[in-house]
Amino acid sequence: MPQESISVFDMFKIGVGPSSSHTLGPWRAALNVLEETELLYGLENVTHIQVLLYGSLAKTGVGHGTDIAVKMGLLGENPETTDVNTIQEKMNHIALSNQLLLAQKYPVEFNPAEDIVFLYNEVLPFHPNALTFLIVLKNGQTISSTWYSIGGGFVIKEGLQNKGDKNKVDLPFPVNNAQDLIFWCIKTGMPIHEVVMENENAWRNEEETKAGVLKIWETMKACIYRGCHSKGELPGGLRVRRRAYELNKKLIGNNTYSGFEDWAEQIKKSSGNFNSILDWISCFALAVNEENASFGRVVTAPTNGAAGVIPAVLNYFVIFCDGNEEDKIIRFLLTASEIGCIFKKGATISAAMGGCQAEIGVSSAMAAAALAESLGGTQKQALMAAEIAMEHHLGLTCDPIGGLVQIPCIERNTMGAIKAITACQLALQSSPDYAKVSLDKVVRTMWDTALDMNSKYKETADGGLAIHIPLGLSEC
Ligand code: SF4
Repeated sequence: MPQESISVFDMFKIGVGPSSSHTLGPWRAALNVLEETELLYGLENVTHIQVLLYGSLAKTGVGHGTDIAVKMGLLGENPETTDVNTIQEKMNHIALSNQLLLAQKYPVEFNPAEDIVFLYNEVLPFHPNALTFLIVLKNGQTISSTWYSIGGGFVIKEGLQNKGDKNKVDLPFPVNNAQDLIFWCIKTGMPIHEVVMENENAWRNEEETKAGVLKIWETMKACIYRGCHSKGELPGGLRVRRRAYELNKKLIGNNTYSGFEDWAEQIKKSSGNFNSILDWISCFALAVNEENASFGRVVTAPTNGAAGVIPAVLNYFVIFCDGNEEDKIIRFLLTASEIGCIFKKGATISAAMGGCQAEIGVSSAMAAAALAESLGGTQKQALMAAEIAMEHHLGLTCDPIGGLVQIPCIERNTMGAIKAITACQLALQSSPDYAKVSLDKVVRTMWDTALDMNSKYKETADGGLAIHIPLGLSEC
């Protein structure tokens, strides 16, 4: 198996909802196209751009904001820093003027209704999420640039699929699968998070990695807090009411607070029983995914559709398990990221390839392992927790109603979080040496299941809930 170098910052990327493969990936592809066009031809020589969306990007592209994402990318907006409150205004401006400012500087003719083409029945062989940019130059030449959005915001250009990993660095402890990981843990005596940190040191120094991971947590926290304090309906036409706001209000009662830390303190003081802790975990997950569905700022973990599982479990650890220390949070996220890498290398984190097991299943496995290690479990117990979490997501289909990342996606994050905690507890109470199923076997099984899964359950909105509850008939 070729070695792929994936950093914690590849797994956890700050971006904009609602989808890592259908929003963040196409957005990043458009930014790459801007960069290569500028280098090779000069953006001032472009007169027109057309974008072709294939397969899953066409079928669920409108619901997932793919059309918006490519326009934002062509405008040169950075998904990590763009002001999400101005996205609609920018889209309106393009639609009214039929003009797009490439890299915010070079005007080109652009009619969104004609220049974003949804090819519903065409799929390119390499991956169901493909898009082609057709760039017309002043000299009449048309340049074609095709990209694949392969899940979690990762993109690959056509022709470079087998050209090796441009991100590749020599890692002291290369890991392709769980067996490699446990080998290094046993050989060095290090916990998983230390192995990961040693590998991260190949990209940058430890202080930078720690600062970057804490920024990821700050973004997750801000997302949870915003989601718990935003009311109304989600965009897209399904008329789904945001629930985290009401749930937070009900659970927090008359306690007053200002800001996240104060709020977290109140939650800790006022929540003693199992039911209320369970409610809070759901509330955190709902909050993140309601923000995600509203084009809010989220962190891919490992995808946007599954962005609520890890923040919910980490916030549970922070508030209810005395995890509120920077080092503990960093360790949690490093371990989680390594499990995500193992799934990406051995199977997929793309719902268009593997259904929802590749999104919620993987995020749940990541959270389960991180929580198990954070609560004092051994490396083998952490891997066992990841295995258990995925084992009980195998076969989970992707069937978003109306192609929107709302139903079943938002609630599904609550399920992924609770399953992660249960998987962690089961592993902590078990001896991994007696386990019958290894993490590598479950990764393999997930991939086989992905290959066998009917394409209508792979982010196409052609099957499952998506056809039984069409957009117009929704009662939500
Ligand atoms: S059903 Fe699962 S995989 Fe599909 S869009 Fe929703 S969260 Fe993502």
